[in-house]
Amino acid sequence: MKAVSGIISQAVRDNRKSLLETEAKTVCKDYGIPITRFELAKNEAEAVGFAEAIGYPVVLKIVSPDIIHKSDVGGVVVDLKDAKAVRGAYKQILGDVKKHDAKAKIIGVLVQEMAPASTEVIVGSIKDPQFGPAIMFGLGGVFVEVLKDVTFRIAPVTEEEAREMIEEVKAYPLLKGYRGSPPADINAIVKIILATSKLVMEHQEIKELDLNPIMVYEKGAKTVDARIILE
Ligand code: ADP
Ligand code: MG
Repeated sequence: MKAVSGIISQAVRDNRKSLLETEAKTVCKDYGIPITRFELAKNEAEAVGFAEAIGYPVVLKIVSPDIIHKSDVGGVVVDLKDAKAVRGAYKQILGDVKKHDAKAKIIGVLVQEMAPASTEVIVGSIKDPQFGPAIMFGLGGVFVEVLKDVTFRIAPVTEEEAREMIEEVKAYPLLKGYRGSPPADINAIVKIILATSKLVMEHQEIKELDLNPIMVYEKGAKTVDARIILE
């Protein structure tokens, strides 16, 4: 858990309220939350080197303390299949981000493993002024954004509560498997909910946390984007 305290105090020293994706994912990893493999590139050649090491296809993303919603500013390019595509995406991301905010501080470009598409879920946390951290669960995309099909529990969440959370969303049948589509790994989601609960209980400096999306497979799951906002 050492890395987590170090990362949070660095952000506080820098006067930052949100962790970079690299930092948020390192925090997640420390708590056993599965994440996509990533490396931070400082130039195009480095990005290509990391892509080759990680293996194609890869995703490139902007890393900047001034950019919270990366895809809104052209800061995410997915499904890059070779070195040429990586170089192109690197230029495109920096160009688009600069166009949007010429003063944005650029830390680098994240090269990461591309998680195969699957059922997407969200695990989050927000702090209630009265009850402290609460844990949220729902399916991704329209289920959370349009249908608000989400559920909450006050942390710390027990394993039984984590299972209840998953079973009580209306979209649960999609996780259980339907019309021949395979069931999702419910135990993997339970583990992520419990790890998130532990993380926010042990680090009360965290005001908001958002693992969105998490791809869930027949076996295992992978967090593709992680956001952590500090008090
Ligand atoms: P933001 O939410 O800041 O705009 P994300 O990191 O969530 O940026 O990226 C936007 C979308 O791109 C994600 O919702 C997901 O659909 C896709 N994506 C991002 N990273 C990956 C990845 N490593 N593997 C597969 N898809 C990804
Ligand atoms: Mg996201």
